[in-house]
Amino acid sequence: MEVTRREALRSVVSKCVPVATAALVLPEARAAETTSQPKAPVGMLYDATLCIGCKACVVACAEANDLPRDVSLDGLHQAPEDLNAFTKNIIKLYKPHDQSPDSFVKQQCMHCIDPACVAACPFKALWKDDENGIVAWEPSRCIGCRYCEIACAYHVPKFEWDMINPKIVKCELCRPRLAKGYEPACTSVCPTHAVIFGPREDLLSQAKERIEQSPNKYFENRVYGEHEAGGTQVLYLSHVPFEDIGLPDVGAAPIPARLNWQKRIYKFLALPLLMYAMLASIMKKNWIDHRREMREEEERTGLRPQL
Ligand code: SF4
Ligand code: SF4
Ligand code: SF4
Repeated sequence: MEVTRREALRSVVSKCVPVATAALVLPEARAAETTSQPKAPVGMLYDATLCIGCKACVVACAEANDLPRDVSLDGLHQAPEDLNAFTKNIIKLYKPHDQSPDSFVKQQCMHCIDPACVAACPFKALWKDDENGIVAWEPSRCIGCRYCEIACAYHVPKFEWDMINPKIVKCELCRPRLAKGYEPACTSVCPTHAVIFGPREDLLSQAKERIEQSPNKYFENRVYGEHEAGGTQVLYLSHVPFEDIGLPDVGAAPIPARLNWQKRIYKFLALPLLMYAMLASIMKKNWIDHRREMREEEERTGLRPQL
């Protein structure tokens, strides 16, 4: 018990000091970084007009990512209401109250070309793969600060509220599967090919071809993700307005360029971390004093006090 607590204290102190130091040092380094363009960006094309809402992709995603069945809605069916710590991919139904057409929509990480989450992460837990442009995540570097969650215009990273050491969860375009030569789980099971995988350039050409072949079918005859926030590697075609199915109007400028608040927040991050380190050292001193008192008590009475 004694050793465990001491070890815990040591661990808190030894972790907080470097983290606080990093928080002071990293902002400048992160701010100086520029996002390089990946060599061969891959992505997905989701065509809402082809989706039948079967949710095979949702189940396949959970399986491929070893996520537990999310039955939080009714306790029986895997039917999460939104992306969450157990759900990296979701199908939602947009059903307007008037007679205008309804639509399914698939949501997961958009794999932005210039990702706000990467720019916001103080510890490089999120990064963009140089080769294929996937926005990847390294759990050992993530401290669960949730800056990525705030920065993402698509509300993708989700926090593990139920965990003791919570981090974030998001789609990584099935990169372990890609590394083995497979396509993403969601695209591999889609019965109608509503969502397909491939090089971004090919997907974009294919999307434009579909628009050309059916000029009145798709909303504004355009591909969502071609230019939005600097472009995304997940592209969308829809027969209903993009905003109605949760694809926000984010403008064409990349979001990291607009993150001037980031530097300020990083500076504020250093303050709580330093306070944690100070708190840990006070706890350590109290613990040593307490141990000394216990020894004195034991010598005086012959009784060993319980911790
Ligand atoms: S959608 Fe959000 S989480 Fe995904 S890459 Fe873009 S900013 Fe990051
Ligand atoms: S690419 Fe993989 S992790 Fe992302 S939504 Fe599809 S199945 Fe899920
Ligand atoms: S598997 Fe395909 S058709 Fe079924 S819900 Fe997913 S995207 Fe839609």
